[in-house]
Amino acid sequence: MTTAQDTGTRQRPDAATVRRWLAVVTDPEIPVLSLEDLGVLRDIHWQDDTLMVVISPTYTGCPAMDRMRADIEATLRAKGVEKLHIREQLQPPWTTDWITGKGLAALQAYGIAPPRRSGEVRCPQCGSANTTLISRFGSTACKAMHKCEDCLEPFDHFKCH
Ligand SMILES: [Zn+2]
Repeated sequence: MTTAQDTGTRQRPDAATVRRWLAVVTDPEIPVLSLEDLGVLRDIHWQDDTLMVVISPTYTGCPAMDRMRADIEATLRAKGVEKLHIREQLQPPWTTDWITGKGLAALQAYGIAPPRRSGEVRCPQCGSANTTLISRFGSTACKAMHKCEDCLEPFDHFKCH
């Protein structure tokens, strides 16, 4: 039992501040998508003098998660956070439904067809729904490669999950 309640309270940023700092951390494969837009950042709170950051991994074993963890840590260390714990929360599992509206728009603008619950894949270039699947795996396991039959452009589709 410790009663040293006043230690480490001098510079304790609140969750909103930490969230703002972490807005610079993006998906390494989709630099226009922040952790928050991706719906990966679940919770930020203090547990005694340790800043707890709870994230939901998008896909198990997705190498991008290691990069994102490292980026979170580097960003918070640079802001002077000394005690930090990044926890991965697996339940409930992350789903593409957690990508924010801003995130979906950013994906589309970046040339990646955003996930749609309807299963429809629209070309991010011309908006045509006349598209064919070329490969179930695109540049990463999270994406599939499609081709637009109207403008003939190949594009990545962020798979529904
Ligand atoms: Zn097209």
